[in-house]
Amino acid sequence: MTDSSALVLFSGGQDSATCLVWALNRFDRVETIGFDYGQRHRAELDARIEFRAGLAKAFPGWAARLGDDRVLNLAVLGEISDTALTREVEIATMSSGLPNTFVPGRNILFLTFAAAVAYRRGLKHVVTGVCETDFSGYPDCRDDTIKALQVALNLGMESRFVLETPLMWINKAETWSLADKLGGAPLVELIRDGTLTCYNGDVEHINEWGRGCGECPACDLRARGYEKFRTAALENAIA
Ligand code: ZN
Repeated sequence: MTDSSALVLFSGGQDSATCLVWALNRFDRVETIGFDYGQRHRAELDARIEFRAGLAKAFPGWAARLGDDRVLNLAVLGEISDTALTREVEIATMSSGLPNTFVPGRNILFLTFAAAVAYRRGLKHVVTGVCETDFSGYPDCRDDTIKALQVALNLGMESRFVLETPLMWINKAETWSLADKLGGAPLVELIRDGTLTCYNGDVEHINEWGRGCGECPACDLRARGYEKFRTAALENAIA
């Protein structure tokens, strides 16, 4: 295991794309991992391939550090979601904004699979874009959960992983600012145009803040964050 190495949980969304760049800026060797758990996220899986390619093309320095990518098939998650358990429920959005196919503790499963891969690949830092600030209803994204999981994984695998959460305490506007700090306007544009956060996987509608349906909670959060970021950037330019 080399110290300056990382595995980034990369979904193809804004948050994990920013985390990927954060890691490339910090570590010598960076690999990515994604999870395939149903057709709903097909467009996101496409976005992650496009974003990696776009990033490598625009930023050769980071391209040299960007290593393997892998997508794990976690279709089994469908067997433990509400829909499959009850057999009669249609996919719908709950009041929390999450689809009813949501698997409790899903993020714990993702991080555990990621750590198993990191162990085999000799990667020390496991980077995830979870965040408590714009809290979206996932208790397994909380800082305490991540810290407890780091202890459990290190004990269970007799290892010294560090679970990194660069976005834990910042909001969506600050996530855009972080991208701006790391790669300037070209990176902000790449993230805006190349990532997909929409719960509906809508790639048809092009908005000021990127692609998405503009109506789901994820689009709403992304749109408001981008607007706040642009407004602040404009005010700074005037001052
Ligand atoms: Zn949407």
